Amino acid sequence: MTVKDKVHFYNRQFETLPTDELREMQDQRLRAHIREITTNRFYQEKSRAAGLDLARIERTRDLRLLPFTTKQELIDEQSERPPFGRLLTYPLPRYRYFHQTSGTTGRPLKCLDTKEDWDWWMRCWGYVYCAAGVTQDYIFFCAFSFGPYISHWTAVSGAWHIGAMCISGGGMNSEQRLQCLLENRVTVIVCTPTYALHLAEVAQGLGIDLRSSAIRIGIHAGEPGASLPNVKRAIEAAWGATCFDHAGATEAGAWAFDCEAQSGAIHINEAEFIFEVIDPESGEAIGEGQRGELVITNLGRAGMPVLRYRTGDLVELTTEPCACGRRFARIKGGEVGRADDMIIVRGVNLYPSAIDNLIHGVPNISEYEVIIRRVAGMDDLTVKIETAISFEETARALTHAFRTQYSIRVGVEQAPDGTLPRYEFKSRRFKRV
Ligand SMILES: [Zn+2]
Repeated sequence: MTVKDKVHFYNRQFETLPTDELREMQDQRLRAHIREITTNRFYQEKSRAAGLDLARIERTRDLRLLPFTTKQELIDEQSERPPFGRLLTYPLPRYRYFHQTSGTTGRPLKCLDTKEDWDWWMRCWGYVYCAAGVTQDYIFFCAFSFGPYISHWTAVSGAWHIGAMCISGGGMNSEQRLQCLLENRVTVIVCTPTYALHLAEVAQGLGIDLRSSAIRIGIHAGEPGASLPNVKRAIEAAWGATCFDHAGATEAGAWAFDCEAQSGAIHINEAEFIFEVIDPESGEAIGEGQRGELVITNLGRAGMPVLRYRTGDLVELTTEPCACGRRFARIKGGEVGRADDMIIVRGVNLYPSAIDNLIHGVPNISEYEVIIRRVAGMDDLTVKIETAISFEETARALTHAFRTQYSIRVGVEQAPDGTLPRYEFKSRRFKRV
């Protein structure tokens, strides 16, 4: 059986539209969306400042005349006009859902959604889950601590949206989560890739073999990982499940997903968003096959829209056909990371995701931390590792891997077992000192 015979879709018609029809549909959606948001004072002002009339944006090519939107701009807007800035299209009583970003890189951004916006989020998650082959017969477990983070709540609501049962893992420690998902014969786990590996480590310590559990599918977001070959392999080996990558952002939506073809490239949702890839320095559009920053316009979140939003995420798009039959373009290797996370070691540009992948390819490292020091204008790396077997042997394998893959020398230090931090959400293993 080929992939095409057994593939699942959320909206087969949209997902398989020929490119010209897909572009036409995006233009139609854009026109309707712009009509809906003409009362949005933030975008009214932004277009006026650029000498444009928001209401006259009719096609993608008109949209490209509008200046980019940055996260800092949205945060500044809320700081200057608290609490929500002029970012809301409608009067406040129309909104139901309040969320905010974690604020790890600055002040949290508050994002409000109306009932219609929430329905749009559910559709976006519908694409994510159906592309992973999940149906209403599956039982979800969302291993998050919840709080005001939109990804957690939309992941749960998205499962309900496709008709599946969903258990929320909030308020539990790792051991309770394992017990809960085993007892209730959960078949899909949604969590960060870091946490999937952490749970597997806890299970191993308790003598639980997750490969004999009912879990069949892991959906992982929040950081690059599920598209990094060595990380994906490690998660799949520990869980005996197929691992799917997913990308999204609180301010923009759930915009990319992995499919059953497992091609190592993830689809961008071109039914619900318009995407551009730009040179992060010049802002100029760049072509297929080149790495650049992803810019997003969402088409279904009228209450607090983003037009030409700079995600900061570096990607390389391909329009090569996918074995699943979808015509949506794909991001090769998933997200690389953020432009501002780049580390330069002896002239070699490295992203934390690439280092994460390399370290997961070296056996017997149970946890690690990377210390980045600025020495004479250059970054210098030291990797602290916890290892179950001989430290010298593992350190040798690790330095060898860095030397052969990137021609760089790194220092390796031993950390006593269980002393490095473990992460329940996104990892913070890279530390500048
Ligand atoms: Zn595909």
